[in-house]
Amino acid sequence: MRPKRLTWFITNTCNLKCGHCCAILQGKQLSKAELFEVLDRAYNFGIQEIGLTGGEPLIRGEETRELCLCAVKCYDMKVGFDTNGTLLAEEHAKWMSELQGKFSVAISLEGPNAQVNDHIRGNRTFNRVINALDLLAEYGITTGIAVTLARYNYQHIEEIAKLAELHSVSTISFGRLVPIGRAAYLRDEILTPNEVRYTLLRAYALTEKYDLTIRASGFPFSFAITEQLRRLTREHRESEEVKQYCGMGLTKFAISASGDFLPCPFIQHPLGNIHKSEFQEFWTSGEMERYRKIATSRAGQCSACPDQDICGGCPAMVLAFYGGPDRSDPQCWRKYEDISEDREDKRKLPLHSCT
Ligand code: SF4
Ligand code: SF4
Repeated sequence: MRPKRLTWFITNTCNLKCGHCCAILQGKQLSKAELFEVLDRAYNFGIQEIGLTGGEPLIRGEETRELCLCAVKCYDMKVGFDTNGTLLAEEHAKWMSELQGKFSVAISLEGPNAQVNDHIRGNRTFNRVINALDLLAEYGITTGIAVTLARYNYQHIEEIAKLAELHSVSTISFGRLVPIGRAAYLRDEILTPNEVRYTLLRAYALTEKYDLTIRASGFPFSFAITEQLRRLTREHRESEEVKQYCGMGLTKFAISASGDFLPCPFIQHPLGNIHKSEFQEFWTSGEMERYRKIATSRAGQCSACPDQDICGGCPAMVLAFYGGPDRSDPQCWRKYEDISEDREDKRKLPLHSCT
């Protein structure tokens, strides 16, 4: 199977120092010419969708603009653009608006006010993010916000939804705190399985109240909050190429700012470098095969789970949390109880795989 999606850290530089950042901020980043060469090689390898991230991708200024334009206009790729939003100005909104339909922006926001958000992202970031959301809305750009759920913000998700609606955001993606990079120092902030379940149930209820798409993109087992979601997820996955949640080594991989091939953006073990290997060589290597096996194995509680065919948890979280692959996802509550709640359901449903 060939991958379709590439997550690409195009820079290892950032203007912020967020406490929960898991990016690799070291190594010599690729030059402009190398960025374009990688884009061409990715296209020829069959990549149809790229997620550009960093560091802060806007820090590369004109190079970032040209790369996005080229991905969409020369290669007809879909581009997802992750930014902290604090550098976003009218000049960026202008070129982003030219790419609408094939381009979407996600801005990180960790709370509904400066007190909660700035605690983790740094002083005066909240107001700058709100200004960026308003600017993107003014230019009609499809915008989402990405929230990393943790102890410091999980009680605020409804206020975040209210704020998102007020600023014309279309999607909220709830991700998880993976203890790598600086986030390795925040292990006490990781939600317990019961806190995760409570938060996902509340997030699900918000889909009825607010005009937003709400995705629990970091939580493979989110379908298990209701029987109906479980059934719909199973039906949806039937038509997908990869039926389980994790596409590591199957549909996706990542490249670091210095050109290292990574099995997943959250597993920062280099499996070769673009300067030394072809994409195909990396993809078919024994090391990649080892990670592919981890993604498809069902360790610990997953081995007895009736939903292991459509889930399997997140191996990146298992590796970061336990230091090895032989356990099940530490945030899945299903090792503690079986959820069989059912609800009448007419809402937008978060049917998805991990990003
Ligand atoms: S036990 Fe494993 S397979 Fe089952 S829902 Fe939890 S993470 Fe998924
Ligand atoms: S489920 Fe986890 S390990 Fe798999 S691709 Fe997503 S983040 Fe990576």
